[in-house]
Amino acid sequence: MNYKEALQLDIFSTISKAATELQLETYVIGGFVRDFLLKRGDAKDIDVVAVGSGIELAKKVASLLPGNSKVQVFKNYGTAMIKTKEIEVEFVGARKESYERGSRNPAVEDGTLQDDQNRRDFSINAMALSLNENTFGDLLDPFNGLQDLEDKRIVTPLDPDITYSDDPLRMMRAIRFATQLNFRIDPVSLEAITRNSNRIEIISKERIVVELNKTLSSATPSIGLKLLEKTNLLGHILPELVALKGIDEKEGQTHKDNFYHTLEVVDNISEHTDDVWLRWAALLHDIGKAPTKRFHKKNGWTFHGHEFVGGKMVFKLFKRLRMPLNEKMKFVQKMVMMSSRPIVLSQDGVTDSAVRRLVFDAGDHVEDLMTLCEADITTKNPKKFAKYHNNFKIVRQKIVEVEERDHVRNFQPPVSGEEIIKAFNLKPSREIGIIKHAIKEAILEGEIPNEHTAAYEFMLAKGKSLGLEVHVSK
Ligand code: ATP
Repeated sequence: MNYKEALQLDIFSTISKAATELQLETYVIGGFVRDFLLKRGDAKDIDVVAVGSGIELAKKVASLLPGNSKVQVFKNYGTAMIKTKEIEVEFVGARKESYERGSRNPAVEDGTLQDDQNRRDFSINAMALSLNENTFGDLLDPFNGLQDLEDKRIVTPLDPDITYSDDPLRMMRAIRFATQLNFRIDPVSLEAITRNSNRIEIISKERIVVELNKTLSSATPSIGLKLLEKTNLLGHILPELVALKGIDEKEGQTHKDNFYHTLEVVDNISEHTDDVWLRWAALLHDIGKAPTKRFHKKNGWTFHGHEFVGGKMVFKLFKRLRMPLNEKMKFVQKMVMMSSRPIVLSQDGVTDSAVRRLVFDAGDHVEDLMTLCEADITTKNPKKFAKYHNNFKIVRQKIVEVEERDHVRNFQPPVSGEEIIKAFNLKPSREIGIIKHAIKEAILEGEIPNEHTAAYEFMLAKGKSLGLEVHVSK
C-alpha cells in the first residue's frame, strides 16, 4: 500500500533527496504514521529512521534546507534533531536492541529496518513509510498494525512478556494509548502487564508521571485508571487510590465505593476542563477518605476531616512521584482541602456572607472549585441530581453578585496597618492585628461594605472598644 499523501510536507522530499545522495535507506516511523492513518490531526513530531547514521542524514538534510537550519546532535544516543517553526524531526539510525534483566538500558547495535521495527512497543507504532525515491510512500507494516488500527487493538510485535519486562514503561504506554485512542489492549498483553506489574518499580517516577498525565489528559481518563487498577500497576503508583476501593458493611450500613466514585468525578470534570491540574484535583479529592473512615453506631460511616487529611496527602504524593512542589501542587492541595465547602454551603442555605467567605478563601480558584464540586455530583437519583446542580447554580450566581458588590476575591484590607498605627498612635502591637482581623470579619459578614470610609469608621469604633484613644481621626 502507498500513502504518498501522508508525505506532502516539503521536509519529506528534502529528506528523500538527502537519503538518495547518501544512499541511505530511510523511513518515517511510529507516531506520525499511526496518527496519519488514524486521521488524528497533523502530527508535529516526526521520527525518521535511517539504515545507517541518523546523524549524517540529519546534517545532510539541514544543508539542503533553505536558510541555515541547525541540527542538534545527541551523540550518546546516536540521534539528531531538526526543529522548524512547525515541526520537529528526530533522526535515528536503525537499531537492534537486546536487554539484560534488571536494566532498562539495552545493548544496542546497528540493525536493519526490520530489527528497528521489532524493538517498537506496539504493532500500531511499528509502521513505517518509505522515504526512498523508488518506493516513496510505501507502507512497511510487518506486524499488521493497519489491521490493529482498524480493530482498535493494542498488541506488542513480539512476545508481550518480553516486551514489557524489557522496558516496563511500555505497560504505562499501552494503557495510555488505550485511553487516548479508546482502543482495547489485547487480552494476552493485558495478562502480561499484570504478571509484570511489579517491574514498574525500575522506571523513573518522572517517566511514569508523563504517561499518567497523558492518560489523565484524555477524554475519558477512567479507561486508563481502571486498567491501571486491574493490572495492579496502580498499587505501585498511586496506592492512595487503591485504598479507596471497596464497600464496607456494618450493621446493615454501607458507604459508596470511593474509587469508582472518583473515576466518575474525573470523567465528569474532563468534560468541562482540559486543565490537567484540576483533573488531578478530581482524582485526589477523596484520598483522605481511606485513613479517616470510621463507623459509629449512631451516624453510620463517617470521613471526618478527610479534606484536610487529603490535602496533606497531596503533598506527600507529589513528592513521592517527583512532581512539582510548586503552585500547581498548592492548587491541587487547596482544591482537595476546600472540596466540601460549596456542598456544605449549598446545604446550609446560600447566604451572602457564606459566599463571600468562599470567594475570599478560594480567591481566583473559586470557579475551578465549583467545577470540581459539580463534577462530584454522581448520584443516580435524577431528582437529587437536578437539585444539587441547581443549588450550585445559585451559588455561582451569588458568587458573581457578591463579587460585583464586595470585591473580596483578592482581598486587600481597605485600611492599612499604617493608618491604624497613626489613628491610635500605636507602637507595633497585638491590637493592630486584632483590629485588622475585625475589619476583615465585618466585611465578610456583610456588616460593612468593602470600602475605605466605612472601614475607617469601623476601625475607630473597634479601637475605642479595645480602650485605645484616638490620636488622629483622619
Ligand atoms: P505521542 O507523540 O502521542 O507520545 P508517539 O508514538 O509519537 O506518541 P513517542 O514517545 O514520541 O510516542 O515515541 C515515538 C515512537 O518511538 C513510538 O511510536 C514507538 O514506535 C517508539 N517508542 C517510544 N517509546 C518506546 C518504548 N518505550 N519502547 C518501544 N518503542 C518505543
